[in-house]
Amino acid sequence: MDIAPTYDFIVVGAGSAGCAVAAGLIEAQSGSVLVVEAGPPDSGPLVKPPLGLVWLMGSKRDWRFRSSPQKALGGRRIRIPRGRMLGGSSSINSMVWFRGRRDDFDNWNVDGWRWVDVEPAFEALERAFRPARLADPHPLSEAVHAVLGNNGMGPPTPEYESSGVFHYNMHNGRRWSAADAFLRPAQRKGGLTVLTSRQVDRIAFSKGRASEIVFTDGSTLGARKGIVLSAGSIGSPEILLRSGVGPAADLAAAGIALTARSEQVGLNLHDHPTAGIHYVGDDAGYGATLRQIPLWAKAPFRYLFSGQGPIGSPTVEAGAFFNAREDGGPPDIQVHFIPFMMGWQDRLIVPGSGYFTDVCVCRPRSRGALRLVDGEVEIDLGLLNDPADLELLIAAFRRLRRIMDDAPFGARRGVEAFPGLQAVRTDDDIRRHILATCGTAFHPVGTLRMGTDDEAPVTPRLAVRGVEGLWVADASVMPQVTSANTNAPSMMIGLRAASMIAADTGGQPG
Ligand SMILES: Cc1cc2nc3c(=O)[nH]c(=O)nc-3n(C[C@H](O)[C@H](O)[C@H](O)COP(=O)(O)OP(=O)(O)OC[C@H]3O[C@@H](n4cnc5c(N)ncnc54)[C@H](O)[C@@H]3O)c2cc1C
Repeated sequence: MDIAPTYDFIVVGAGSAGCAVAAGLIEAQSGSVLVVEAGPPDSGPLVKPPLGLVWLMGSKRDWRFRSSPQKALGGRRIRIPRGRMLGGSSSINSMVWFRGRRDDFDNWNVDGWRWVDVEPAFEALERAFRPARLADPHPLSEAVHAVLGNNGMGPPTPEYESSGVFHYNMHNGRRWSAADAFLRPAQRKGGLTVLTSRQVDRIAFSKGRASEIVFTDGSTLGARKGIVLSAGSIGSPEILLRSGVGPAADLAAAGIALTARSEQVGLNLHDHPTAGIHYVGDDAGYGATLRQIPLWAKAPFRYLFSGQGPIGSPTVEAGAFFNAREDGGPPDIQVHFIPFMMGWQDRLIVPGSGYFTDVCVCRPRSRGALRLVDGEVEIDLGLLNDPADLELLIAAFRRLRRIMDDAPFGARRGVEAFPGLQAVRTDDDIRRHILATCGTAFHPVGTLRMGTDDEAPVTPRLAVRGVEGLWVADASVMPQVTSANTNAPSMMIGLRAASMIAADTGGQPG
């Protein structure tokens, strides 16, 4: 492949948002575009079959970040999987499709990003992705429709209490990532170069203007019109800090020359905290049992011919939204339902059949921070450091148990195996269980918050404050996480970023 020394735009990171940015810039005829991705192409055998995500996590296609010891969790470190290949986290995720609540965007309170502003971009995304109901849910997942109901056979929605089988960005039982929807079609149009397995270390500036990317091996490539950081909520702030844009004292301590002082770079890190329950029982979900040997023996053929069966399952098949304290307020909890016996006793697969369900705080109050310490990135998720999140999870855990007791699971019903009704009964027991086991829904956001105030690292037009020719387009710009899964909102940000950047650099808005 011919790599030119200079491009009009360089997009760093071919993830959910980066692929949308690149396609949008090509669509807007903004000039030549180079996309640089640290990870490999998305051609591995586990990437397209939905069940493959179980093995992708922890593989070389996952950044395998870990949080710093979490203060509220007794020093426990939390795993932070992030996709590391073309498509980024959209090539490793469960493909659950949600826009979020309308008032999530109104509450961002950022000009140009209210619901009326973002809705057309979600509609455009849905024309490109055609998210649809899982074709072949497990019978237990089908039964989840009845637990709260309220939405017919449609997916549950964070707008009101509801439950059911989720919608997914899959086509014929295969993953349809941001690379499928955006990157490859844009490559066919011409003007787009994609470079894989090249990690960007930092941005170099010339008279305050972002002019080059510097790779970890020290080599460089130039950008005439500008550079877009789409390296995700961990990668983008890390690159910015390495480039000297961040809190002055931290940069001085790290021996990095100051390019622009921006005290809030890396702050406001947050994610959806989750805690769950494992159920086991004969025939209570997919699992490693003698009875299921025929099912698993046929599974590869079934998947190859129809895209269905357990290999066509992204594990999370259904769920719900509810208000934990039933106080008449909007849903503040999302439930995921996984009809598989997995991820228990610190092992991926344990013998037996069962199912798992969890509660996630939709709009957490806790905040952490990402910093450079001794040249390495330190990721403090700040999980549950606001006690309100823990108390909400306790109420939600109690309601989840009641809902699961009432679910019409018939002969497939399992019994609660972990934490167990006897072991964990009182609020104090539940509190201890949550603190010992809680993780995240893998939706980190907020480290380069956009805002109209001067403290926000990024402007409402997604430009990095204090420098020229540098933008951020990914989940890091969300001031507050949306109330459900974050892939579609991240791609919405990417699509709108391309339009804004094209317009602000004299091209056609896409
Ligand atoms: C396991 C998992 C399951 C999930 N399930 C769902 C789900 O079902 N539904 C949903 O809506 N959301 C889900 N999410 C969240 C969703 O996928 C993310 O919020 C979304 O993909 C974030 O998009 P992004 O563009 O901000 O970052 P990413 O998609 O993570 O893209 C960042 C890209 O930048 C690259 N990069 C990083 N640093 C560098 C560097 N220095 N140089 C070059 N390239 C770099 C990365 O390799 C990556 O390709 C899940 C996430 C994970 C990890």
